[in-house]
Amino acid sequence: MSDSGLRLMAVHAHADDETITMGGTLALCADRGITTLNVCCTDGKLATIVDPSMPEAETRPRLAEIRKEELRTALGILGVNEVIFLGYGDSGMAGAETNQLPDAFWMANLDEVVGRLVEIIRRFKPHVVVTYDSNGAYGHPDHIQAHRAALLAVEAAHTPVYGDRGEPWLVQKLYYTAFPRAAFKVIIEVSKELGMEPPFGVDNVDDLPFLAADELVTTRIDCRTTVLRKREALRAHRSQIAPDWPLLRVPEDMALKYADEWFQLVITRKPRPERETDLFEGITAEEPVAAG
Ligand SMILES: [Zn+2]
Repeated sequence: MSDSGLRLMAVHAHADDETITMGGTLALCADRGITTLNVCCTDGKLATIVDPSMPEAETRPRLAEIRKEELRTALGILGVNEVIFLGYGDSGMAGAETNQLPDAFWMANLDEVVGRLVEIIRRFKPHVVVTYDSNGAYGHPDHIQAHRAALLAVEAAHTPVYGDRGEPWLVQKLYYTAFPRAAFKVIIEVSKELGMEPPFGVDNVDDLPFLAADELVTTRIDCRTTVLRKREALRAHRSQIAPDWPLLRVPEDMALKYADEWFQLVITRKPRPERETDLFEGITAEEPVAAG
């Protein structure tokens, strides 16, 4: 695929978040000649290890390295062009004592994190940036920290601040990843019809705090052509994602049926569409580099 001149940068907290929330979209970018960069903020070393062939005692000390390799494999499958590891320590789940560890991403100086992201934005020059909403999708402190830093960096990158971090660059659009309540309701209903337990074992969307209010979800990406690559990439994160993960256990035809990924358009320099089906809608490769 020839280079479209367009670029997308994703800011994620842990290895696997990129594949779970937007793996199909990343692969679609590769198919369209859109250059992609994934920033992974933490080392993910405190996560639960789900693969029974990876015993806790031997795996835990190497988990950060293992997850790096898993991420590289997954990104290779998805055709992502570049990965940057910021290398902050995993903070663990909300409220855990590990949130206060000196190397925890949650304890990092926000100004320092923003400065690093500004530098990456000014070098990579993305037209589109994707991160999480203000609750970090489900309240994980590393996701919330990634959200704060990415949002601030997108708006700082086109101004004179952080003057030693490169020339100003104006990101055209900022999105949050989203999983709409309406889409999950359908999945629960279909699971019941098929006599399968619904994903995450819930039969009421109110029990899933990470679902997005439908009215906030602006953008649906049809990932039917890439969902099987997304499944392969999910499997690459084997320390984190068990084979009974919802998208992995359903037959191929059902995976194709539920291949959509969703986003919330937050910042745009263009007229704001009510609904769209392309993160790059309205964007051309030649855009003003600074707000002026
Ligand atoms: Zn995560």
